[in-house]
Amino acid sequence: MVSLHFKHILLKLGLDKERIEILEMKGGIVEDEFEGLRYLRFKDSAKGLRRGTVVFNESDIILGFPHIKRVVHLRNGVKRIFKSKPFYVEEKVDGYNVRVAKVGEKILALTRGGFVCPFTTERIGDFINEQFFKDHPNLILCGEMAGPESPYLVEGPPYVEEDIQFFLFDIQEKRTGRSIPVEERIKLAEEYGIQSVEIFGLYSYEKIDELYELIERLSKEGREGVVMKSPDMKKIVKYVTPYANVNDIKIGSRIFFDLPHGYFMQRIKRLAFYIAEKRIRREDFDEYAKALGKALLQPFVESIWDVAAGEMIAEIFTVRVKKIETAYKMVSHFERMGLNIHIDDIEELGNGYWKITFKRVYDDATKEIRELWNGHAF
Ligand code: ATP
Repeated sequence: MVSLHFKHILLKLGLDKERIEILEMKGGIVEDEFEGLRYLRFKDSAKGLRRGTVVFNESDIILGFPHIKRVVHLRNGVKRIFKSKPFYVEEKVDGYNVRVAKVGEKILALTRGGFVCPFTTERIGDFINEQFFKDHPNLILCGEMAGPESPYLVEGPPYVEEDIQFFLFDIQEKRTGRSIPVEERIKLAEEYGIQSVEIFGLYSYEKIDELYELIERLSKEGREGVVMKSPDMKKIVKYVTPYANVNDIKIGSRIFFDLPHGYFMQRIKRLAFYIAEKRIRREDFDEYAKALGKALLQPFVESIWDVAAGEMIAEIFTVRVKKIETAYKMVSHFERMGLNIHIDDIEELGNGYWKITFKRVYDDATKEIRELWNGHAF
């Protein structure tokens, strides 16, 4: 049940009573709590309040992070979207999205879905200068948490060798969700020493060859891609490298039955467009064909063998926390997200951190593989 306090705020935001009731009934808005702080989380979007919006009180309203459209034909996409106007090209860092804001006296990190993440909230002080929020309490830092020790992803970008880091890519206003212009963001990041995603500079359609070269380089370096943004942040599109498309398939195929078919189809489509746009032929084409086939098949076949040998399909995650309690809070957080994750190991690192190993078990994938292996007919 959503309390009257929040219903009152929603009415003030322009949602009518009936809409609020329907949202509540369908589970589109859910009341949650983090360390005694109550908040309302939007699982669906409603009247300008994007999915993932979090309402703490009348002024601390943090809109959901907007969807970024994707181009699959780089040249034509850039031409269609930016015409001949300049745009910034930034790295698309492969991690998980967080929105960081100060609410009362606490600095909180929110996930894309609108949960307060206990792990990121505990660690965020390691990456963000608190002074920023003292000077700008109305701003939200949006960024990617990325690295090999992430609670949500099995891999990170190649240049984060251990632990996890924060990379800023957007600064938004509370309540309106309006992004500040790129140059202002760069200035604030420098002023407060907040690490930003790499900004490759201003490009335009005329410099498409340089952009192609950048994509080739990022792909070779095992990086995910780019996000292109008009300086005023009004137009934003993303483009991913062929490396990332193949690598995502490789990571996904181990848990083939747990992912929607679209996960694979979308990435095959993007790779096909890349190959077509770049007119890749002969040996180079064969190389992609082999890489794609292997990415799709090898981890899948290996997971079948694992299940045939009596194992469960599982993924292991390691994170560093300051308090063991945070690890237990993460377990309840995962449970609320509907995931089956438990703590596998706890190790004291001696530098004020604990290393926690989580195991995520994929029950459905394991069951399906086991039945098929045992000869069940469907
Ligand atoms: P979407 O709703 O945008 O389709 P998605 O969950 O499918 O989101 P992606 O396709 O990975 O996500 O791309 C968008 C995400 O990329 C953003 O939500 C953000 O977390 C991440 N990201 C990484 N680097 C950047 C960057 N430089 N600018 C904007 N977003 C970035």
